[in-house]
Amino acid sequence: MRIGVLALQGAFREHMMMLEALGIESSAIRLPSQLADLSGLIIPGGESTAIAKLMVAYGFYEPIRQHHAAGLAVWGTCAGAILVAKDILDAVPGQESLALMDITVRRNAFGRQVDSFEADLDFAHLAERFRGVFIRAPWIEMAAPDVEVLATHDGRAVAARQGTLLATAFHPELTGDPRVHRYFAEEIVGS
Ligand code: GLN
Repeated sequence: MRIGVLALQGAFREHMMMLEALGIESSAIRLPSQLADLSGLIIPGGESTAIAKLMVAYGFYEPIRQHHAAGLAVWGTCAGAILVAKDILDAVPGQESLALMDITVRRNAFGRQVDSFEADLDFAHLAERFRGVFIRAPWIEMAAPDVEVLATHDGRAVAARQGTLLATAFHPELTGDPRVHRYFAEEIVGS
């Protein structure tokens, strides 16, 4: 199994370190041609408008959609969750998403940078609570019936799965706790 981390902008190194700690082979993805041979792709947190611009510049949109249609599991964290969503509320005009997952996310829903916070989450399929790090995080405002909401905070969905897609509004790569990475690798990529 090899998991790629989109390495255009944002917290990609932290994801790679987490995968490495789990003994999972990972690669930094900077060109669409590197998507071949991956079983999973993580789109990191950062700034979704910046990542989107770079994805356009490097021609990532169609290749990611095609590889996902052919079986590539995709996990978006924070800005990455915005990029995998079908619909974005409070998007920057013209901001395009990959439109893979049947969710509507609201950007910066929990407030501005100063409103970043941490919270213990009941994360489905994990035995113990998971510490969520939220940095100008979106929330999942709507989800199709076949989307499984995995975690909520203050009544808002902040993690969800639909088939081979995972979205988390928070940053599991910044916690030192590898359980969500293991869940993605074992239950979604490896399923
Ligand atoms: N608010 C950012 C955005 O819209 C996401 C923040 C993050 O990824 N930590 O892209």
